Amino acid sequence: MNPFINLGIRHDIVNAISELGFENPTPIQEQSIPVLLTGSNDFVGLAQTGTGKTAAFGLPLLELLDFEENHPQALVLCPTRELCLQITNDLKNYAKNMNNVHVVAVYGGASISDQLRQIKRGVQIVVATPGRMLDIINRKAIDFSQVQYVVLDEADEMLNMGFQEDIDNILSTTPDEKKTWLFSATMPAEVRRIAKKYMENPFELTMGEKNTGNANIEHEYYVIRARDKYAAFKRIVDFNPEIFGIVFCRTKIETQEIAESLIKDGYNADSLHGDLSQQQRDKVMKRYRERSLQLLIATDVAARGIDVNDVTHVINYSLPDEIENYTHRSGRTARAGKTGVSISIINSKEFGKIRQIERVIGKKFVKAEIPTGFDVCEKQLFALIHKVHNVEVNEQQIEQYIPRIMNEFADLSKEDLIKRFASLEFNRFLDYYKNAPDLNAPADDRLGREREGGDRFAREGARGDFTRLFINLGSVDGFSRGDLLGYICNTSKISGKVVGKIDVKGVYSFFEVPHSDVATVQEGFKGADFQGRDVRIEISGDGVSTNRSGGRREGGYRGGNREGGFRGGDRREGGFRGGDRREGGSNSGGGFRGGEKREGGGFRDFSGKRREDRGERKKRF
Ligand code: AMP
Repeated sequence: MNPFINLGIRHDIVNAISELGFENPTPIQEQSIPVLLTGSNDFVGLAQTGTGKTAAFGLPLLELLDFEENHPQALVLCPTRELCLQITNDLKNYAKNMNNVHVVAVYGGASISDQLRQIKRGVQIVVATPGRMLDIINRKAIDFSQVQYVVLDEADEMLNMGFQEDIDNILSTTPDEKKTWLFSATMPAEVRRIAKKYMENPFELTMGEKNTGNANIEHEYYVIRARDKYAAFKRIVDFNPEIFGIVFCRTKIETQEIAESLIKDGYNADSLHGDLSQQQRDKVMKRYRERSLQLLIATDVAARGIDVNDVTHVINYSLPDEIENYTHRSGRTARAGKTGVSISIINSKEFGKIRQIERVIGKKFVKAEIPTGFDVCEKQLFALIHKVHNVEVNEQQIEQYIPRIMNEFADLSKEDLIKRFASLEFNRFLDYYKNAPDLNAPADDRLGREREGGDRFAREGARGDFTRLFINLGSVDGFSRGDLLGYICNTSKISGKVVGKIDVKGVYSFFEVPHSDVATVQEGFKGADFQGRDVRIEISGDGVSTNRSGGRREGGYRGGNREGGFRGGDRREGGFRGGDRREGGSNSGGGFRGGEKREGGGFRDFSGKRREDRGERKKRF
């Protein structure tokens, strides 16, 4: 027997969900459906997105409501328009074999008159975002006096978005006897508070451990130098030819810039952020859902509620400011029992944040290495080989050319032919990547940070652009590193955060500051004295900090590595995408066709001909 029937779901609904591919209930469905079907409990479900929550509450609602009556009996509140539409759509699909089921989606950014009209016609289930719902309530256009069930979906997100007061106001229009079902990915104190406020003895269900992320998600981090971020990101993407990912940035501008650069570099990407009109957002989402986009570059807010199956990777191009947001981001992958990877690209200053996230999600990250150019070549080569193997042949079209093709290849054995086909691409990959530098932050940087962690390393971490300064004060003057840091900051009025490594010697010391702060420090120390002694600040040696990047700028660093050494000067890596993956972005710098408009460095067009990096792309990152 179908396991949903065993849970108490009727045949016409089971038939509908079978068509959606629901063969077995997900764990949350299995545990919550029998409880919710009693209709007599308040309920708190701590569950990640993508676990099958919608059906967990949706199927019981369809069982419990009286669809012969045409007044609102259930209200589902959720944080975003996307989620609102998704839930509405899901409920309609589950109910497709039932009669007289009316579900209306109520959300901002769309015509209110349409929504009012639908409500007037008679609905039993209202799915709404809080702002628009309140608007409609204030117009006295809806009557919630007979609501029996309220679902608060993604409650933590609704609170994060500041909907607390709206929710209070909306719920005050519903009867006291209603049952409230709350779902949340995380359970911060504020969610606990609403659970307490609106519920009596709720049945609590925690899927997995509290605050634990989806077990099917692997969490990885890569440590890079801040300036290598974009190149490292592309390397990761290139190493995953089948990637279907969401890339999270912190700001709209960053989102837009990354998407534009990717498009120029020949990737199939576009951005999703709050400055786009609803129409533009819908368009981007449509393309992503249809997989004509491979990478969706998004801000946290814009990506809330996105429900796209089969996302293979979430990439945290920038870590979220709010650690809780990490759970929401990573929950966009590994949906419906699938596996997924959540990747964070960090510089060594951010290591502490990874540890904090680990505590929140209750899971360890795996430290990964940015693949070498050679690794990428190998991966791309075999992706291509698989593609050749599986390509659909258009017999009719190709037939006319076959005799000529056969003739051309007449002198080649099968083995020779395969070698040549493979080399055609492989040479091109090798050529592109042969001088690719190692993009991992040097091990001692990373080890140091991991060993000591915390703020000190936030100061000492990426020492890429520091000047090393000499000061004629040291331990004999009673200075420890901390004392000296305080003294430098007080005297020169620079922030302690920007000061790099401090090396306290006997009668003198060295400390590092960014090149851009050298003049401020020198100015600040003009005329300074310490216990009657003139304080001298001098640029040490060649003025460049004795760190790795100083050497690299000269082109010497890593000269001996197996990729054949760093070319010196500009480390920019151009795009690495063949023509087949490109599709113009609709809002990130305009679309393009074929290879003609691309300006990124070093990629090839369909012919495999090398297009030189014309240095047109400004380095932004
Ligand atoms: P949700 O957490 O409700 O957003 O569901 C995540 C995804 O899992 C959606 O695409 C659902 O269609 C799918 N899904 C939900 N329940 C099942 C099930 N029992 N079997 C297969 N897929 C499911």
